[in-house]
Parts: sequence; structure tokens; C-alpha cells
Amino acid sequence: MSIQQGLHELRNNIPKEVSLVAVSKTKPVSAIKEAYECGQRIFGENKIQEMTSKREQLPNDIQWHMIGHVQSNKVKYMAEYVDLIHGVDSINLLKAIDKEAAKHHRVIPCLLQAHIAVESTKFGFSLDEIKAVFDSDVLSELKHVKVVGLMGMASFTTEEKQIRTEFSSLKSLFDELKEVSNIEVLSMGMSGDYQIAIEEGSTMIRVGSKIFGTR
Ligand SMILES: *Cc1c(COP(=O)(O)O)cnc(C)c1O
Repeated sequence: MSIQQGLHELRNNIPKEVSLVAVSKTKPVSAIKEAYECGQRIFGENKIQEMTSKREQLPNDIQWHMIGHVQSNKVKYMAEYVDLIHGVDSINLLKAIDKEAAKHHRVIPCLLQAHIAVESTKFGFSLDEIKAVFDSDVLSELKHVKVVGLMGMASFTTEEKQIRTEFSSLKSLFDELKEVSNIEVLSMGMSGDYQIAIEEGSTMIRVGSKIFGTR
């Protein structure tokens, strides 16, 4: 299937109000161009250097989302332009983003990453830790980051029930926090599980292989 076909099929299968992040990691600039020609404007990368280099070769109305694990000392390479950082998994990282954003007089939108999968290798806060962050003053103290929502990855399994339960637990927290803050983005769902994620309330899916083919 071509990139164009993949994108069209995906768009036909998701509600208009769900944002689509086209995950272009490891894929060449030419592949991003092809998706861009089909109207896609949001792209997700998981390595800062790769994202920065691609950005330099592509139109500047693309929105670049960092979806991977971020090291504090690398934030400076994307602080000038990154549109959304999905994987914020520590207060220290949030502070590092704040500091670098300030240098560019920006407020960088971020998502707190929740650890909802059973695998211990995946990064993120526990749901209780996220609640504690929202209960504390830390978010109001950091003037150059804005936490606009939550992100999560389900377990790597074919057990649909398991995936559904994990997404649903994140959606419950999202709804709870929405009552006391103005978060609006719930980033969950990848090529293998975006349909379940949308059914469970996702507002933003991150899809790579379904558009660009296997990596
Ligand atoms: C690679 C990646 C994706 C996309 O994965 P696909 O299975 O190719 O859709 C989504 N989210 C994160 C965090 C990723 O690292």
C-alpha cells in the first residue's frame, strides 16, 4: 500500500475530531513529503537529532511532535520549534523543558506520559503520580511549559481486553483531571490499537507503520 492509500484509509476510519500524528521515525524525508502532499501536517519523531535534521529539509508549516523518551540535556536542540512533547515522564524533565523554552520566549505544550502497560520497560508516571503532580504547585510555577494532556502506551499484547482496560484507566484519570484543569489532549493509540484507543476516548493517535509501512 502507498503512503497516500494508507493515509486515506486511516482518515476514513477515524472521527474528524481525533488528531492524527503521522509517526515518521526512521523514514526518509521523501516519505514525509509524500504524506505532506496528501495534507498531513503533524509528524511525530522519537529522536531529537533526526527530527531537527528532517525539519530543516521540509516546509515550515509542519508541526513536529516529539513522541520518544527525552533526555533533559537534549531539550535545547528542539526548544525553538517543537510543537508538542508527548513523553514527559519526570518533574526534572519538565523543569529542563521550562528552562530551554524560556530562552526562546516560548511556552512549550507537553503531555505527561502515564505508565499503563504491564511491561516494566516503558517510561512514565504512575496514575497516582500524575494526580499528585496536578495537586501540587509545580505546573503553575513553570511558566514556559503548559501541560495540555496525557499520553499512554498500552501493553504489547493481542489481548484486546487488556489493552482496553489500560486505555480506559487513563481516560478515567483524564476525565477526573479535566474537572480541575484545562487539559484537552489524550494521546493514545498506535497502528495496532488505535481503534480500541478511539473507542476508549483518545483524542490523538500516533500512527507510523500503518501509514509508512513496516520499519
Ligand atoms: C513508534 C511509535 C509509535 C507508532 O508506532 P506504529 O506501531 O508504527 O504505529 C507511536 N507512539 C510511540 C511512542 C512510538 O514510539
